[in-house]
Amino acid sequence: MGFELNRLLRPHIASLKPYSSARDEYSGKEGIFLDANENPYGSITDTAFNRYPDPYQQDLKARIAEIKGVQPNQLFLGNGSDEAIDLLFRAFCRPGVDNVILLPPTYGMYEVSAGINDVATIRVSLTADFQLNVPAILEAATPNSKILFICSPNNPSGNRMKREDIHALLRNFPALVVIDEAYIDFSDEPSFTSELARYPNLLVMQTFSKAWGLASLRLGMAYASPEIIAILNKIKPPYNISGLTQATVLDALDNLEKVDTMISEILEEREKLTGKLLGLRSVQKLFPSQANFLLVKIDRAKETYDALVRQRIIVRDRSKVTLCEDCLRITVGTSVENEKLVEALDRLTR
Ligand SMILES: *Cc1c(COP(=O)(O)O)cnc(C)c1O
Repeated sequence: MGFELNRLLRPHIASLKPYSSARDEYSGKEGIFLDANENPYGSITDTAFNRYPDPYQQDLKARIAEIKGVQPNQLFLGNGSDEAIDLLFRAFCRPGVDNVILLPPTYGMYEVSAGINDVATIRVSLTADFQLNVPAILEAATPNSKILFICSPNNPSGNRMKREDIHALLRNFPALVVIDEAYIDFSDEPSFTSELARYPNLLVMQTFSKAWGLASLRLGMAYASPEIIAILNKIKPPYNISGLTQATVLDALDNLEKVDTMISEILEEREKLTGKLLGLRSVQKLFPSQANFLLVKIDRAKETYDALVRQRIIVRDRSKVTLCEDCLRITVGTSVENEKLVEALDRLTR
């Protein structure tokens, strides 16, 4: 199938002249900088933040690209993955005309971003075991379908999608295919970033918010062809990643062992918590997880959720979500937190 990016792109974005920042017009590092109306004396804080940051985060991207085995021009950094999601809508989806395909139960931001951008959603439910219904997805696509969102490992079900199904969609879906890999670090399968050269319609999203423990900094990644990345760069706010975030994450990337240690601990806790939850009388079913949370089917889910909140233990009530009847989504906490949760659940059923 021929993939034509220009057929998908909104025409006014193709001809848009982007903002040219002071740092675009002169990118040298030495000089007397009187071009950006910054404060030359410093900052109100002890650390100096008075200069605008690199709009294209080149040092940080070079390092991330090296770690992830991609080229820097295949990488976009956003203020959280949520920024990349929103930019995709704005680049490709004409309000009131185009649509995107969502696969519930899935991450809620795709729907919200579609709503904000006045873009219709076509929903194709996952199968009963939370897998991709490939024929139904291909059948549902219309000439105005611009993006298919696949979340793998999936939030809230925790499983990953079968690889061959994702390949089939990448081959046959007539528009962009986004694979949201927010939880890939907890999964035993490799990222789809290795398939970028093969599929010009592929965009992979990852985030520093989960395994890396940097949710507060807001840093998300999108990987795609240099052509798609150039479009995102063209329409993003010029300084979307703060200097503090760039510097902090660049430093943190020297500390990869700490991430690995934390991931191993979380995976160990996930297995322990799985065992303990399965021992509870109220737990009807536990869905196998490739992420840092467990989807649990439990007696009287809503009442259980409320009772836990009264004890200041907060989980996520997913009982009203497609295919998640009577389900709570529980993030894997520390060993102590998980024990408190299990004790509380145990007391509730006595
Ligand atoms: C948590 C999560 C994200 C992360 O979003 P950020 O904006 O990067 O914090 C993205 N996708 C899914 C499916 C998530 O669960």
